Amino acid sequence: MRITAHAAAETQSFPTLSKLHISREAMLHNVRLIRSQLPLGTKVCAMVKADAYGHGADLVVDTLCNFEFEGLPSPAVDQLGVATLDEASALPQMLPILVLRPIESFYIAEQREAIESAIAFGWILNVQTVGAVDDLAKLAMRVGRAAKLHVMIDTGMTREGCPPEMLSVLLTRISAYQSLQLVSVGTHFASADEPESAFVAGQFGRFVATIDGTIDKLAPGVLRHVSNSGATFLAPRTHLDMVRPGISLYGIDPTGQPNRNRALRPIAKWTAPILAIQNCPRGTSVGYGQTWTAQRDTRIGLLPIGYADGYVRNLSSKGIVLHGKTPLPVVGRVSMDQITIDLENVPGAQVGDEITLLDNDPLSPVSAYALAQMSGTIPYEVFTRIGPRVKRVAVEQ
Ligand SMILES: *Cc1c(COP(=O)(O)O)cnc(C)c1O
Repeated sequence: MRITAHAAAETQSFPTLSKLHISREAMLHNVRLIRSQLPLGTKVCAMVKADAYGHGADLVVDTLCNFEFEGLPSPAVDQLGVATLDEASALPQMLPILVLRPIESFYIAEQREAIESAIAFGWILNVQTVGAVDDLAKLAMRVGRAAKLHVMIDTGMTREGCPPEMLSVLLTRISAYQSLQLVSVGTHFASADEPESAFVAGQFGRFVATIDGTIDKLAPGVLRHVSNSGATFLAPRTHLDMVRPGISLYGIDPTGQPNRNRALRPIAKWTAPILAIQNCPRGTSVGYGQTWTAQRDTRIGLLPIGYADGYVRNLSSKGIVLHGKTPLPVVGRVSMDQITIDLENVPGAQVGDEITLLDNDPLSPVSAYALAQMSGTIPYEVFTRIGPRVKRVAVEQ
């Protein structure tokens, strides 16, 4: 018998040392805060692409679909948004799923089976070219079910989407096929994280003008949606029929700074235990390249996470972790699987003590905001790079 690595892993349950604790309550609190910004009846498409921004799509979608919270009904949202067909197929099929990556003719042949099952599942597919529309119409006929389509209009992001002047042609083509059903149109803002952004106003104006110019081709019931988290909170004019929040669901303020007036609650806390402690006399160097040397006698704690887990290497001798409330410095290079911390400020620290790498308190020195700042990125990237070895666990079962 051939034993695959996968089979071997299934027969044993290894304890995981490093965990990403996900609070369902905090998440539903955030949904409620988002809903409180919206007129009644405005729908919410929860963006759960990239494994729910690294938080674990299974857990996040389970929370959104199966839990009630302080008057928020279940499911808490109306639609789920992902980037790829693979991401869509990994989700429970409970709510409409919007797949953002545009379907393009050049790969339709190669992905025919995946796209046919996407049509059969009723996922909403994003199209931006007449060629893709024609190809999808044919596949939908083979499947025997109308393909649901979304059209993104590029109003200034210069990324995906159909140019405004092409919309009319595209919609005419879609309506020519019985096997296609247009369910939504949208656009995406380039700078919705800035309050009062003139660029957002310009993009929104272009979107509305483009839609108005083709209104005869939009069947009633076609949803118009444009707002990411930034626009949901900062540009209420843009809410239209549905909003598409991502980062705010996970409790991060769209401005990238904690905001006391908008009490979003970060839903993730990343911890790892101290795996070992070494006594380090003054003058001892730590880690690859001897980049850090003890200036005094101290104790060095070893944590079982490294850059392969998303604790980036540029936090070498720069990162901070928490023992309880006490901040401790990361010393020496971040390795692939391990980091080392200076325990001088917690003489009582022991092997097994839980250390916080990423805190769910927005004002913590190791909040996602702070970690992003320390490592020169944004909270989105802090979350999405947390690797698969870190187990996602629910705080509330
Ligand atoms: C990721 C994404 C969103 C969500 O953006 P946030 O800034 O995380 O709220 C909305 N719309 C589209 C098209 C996206 O790709």
